[in-house]
Amino acid sequence: MKIKYYGTRGSLSVPGKDTVKYGGNTACVRITVGPTLIVLDGGSGLRVLGNELMQGEFRAGRGCAHLFFSHAHWDHIHGFPFFAPAYIEGNQLLLYGSRNSNSSLNKTLSHQQNCVNFPVRLEEMTSNLKFIEIHDGEKLRCAQAVVSCFALNHPSGSLSFRVEAGHKSVVYASDYEHLDCLDLKLVEFARDADLLIYDAMFTPEEYERKQGWGHSTYLEGLKIAKAAHVKQLHLFHYNPEHNDPFIDKLEKKAQKLFPNTYAAKEGWEIEI
Ligand SMILES: [Zn+2]
Ligand SMILES: [Zn+2]
Repeated sequence: MKIKYYGTRGSLSVPGKDTVKYGGNTACVRITVGPTLIVLDGGSGLRVLGNELMQGEFRAGRGCAHLFFSHAHWDHIHGFPFFAPAYIEGNQLLLYGSRNSNSSLNKTLSHQQNCVNFPVRLEEMTSNLKFIEIHDGEKLRCAQAVVSCFALNHPSGSLSFRVEAGHKSVVYASDYEHLDCLDLKLVEFARDADLLIYDAMFTPEEYERKQGWGHSTYLEGLKIAKAAHVKQLHLFHYNPEHNDPFIDKLEKKAQKLFPNTYAAKEGWEIEI
């Protein structure tokens, strides 16, 4: 199983000299298991992934991808109108999302591309788009992988995904606000995973002023990683105000408490 980051930032894309190392694009992670392609979230990093996919079978309209949206906040969907494979006839795109605030993923993406917001409508994207509504507790087979869903504490809701293939597993828990006590259900969901990708938007000090905003800290991430016996923890969904030197420091602090912690970097690929 290979994992590659195309966007690690939360809330807003922040390109520039201060974000070169960890990246400025918003949430997008590619997971590949043999020929099976799974994409977690469609932030601005999805544009970069799309361009890369266009070097292969997606260019000829013979590609297939499973795109899972944790939720429909804009930093998780605003890359979709710029996803080049969606404009090529023949490509199969399976779009998985839950019903947030009474709007389906289909409706939300259509709204994002109404004529006020964007010049090309969703219906004008010529690939084969298939929307699949997903729910907390659901388990889906996607060719060679199995994806499980778990509802996270986040304003208007968010889903965590556990992707499993063979004996390998990765848990993606972005856009999550930790609870006052250890979230035992999330610990169970992440149990023995090879990798946990976790919302590290705030420092513990920042969090004191941002309670209820729907995000967490590296400190809470490593509590869950330790309790769940996760092998490796990746910090993710960085605050747009945190530059590269700041994230370097966060990573070092986290590594003192849980050595196998790394700050996810845009363009970084690992195999587990
Ligand atoms: Zn977000
Ligand atoms: Zn969110």
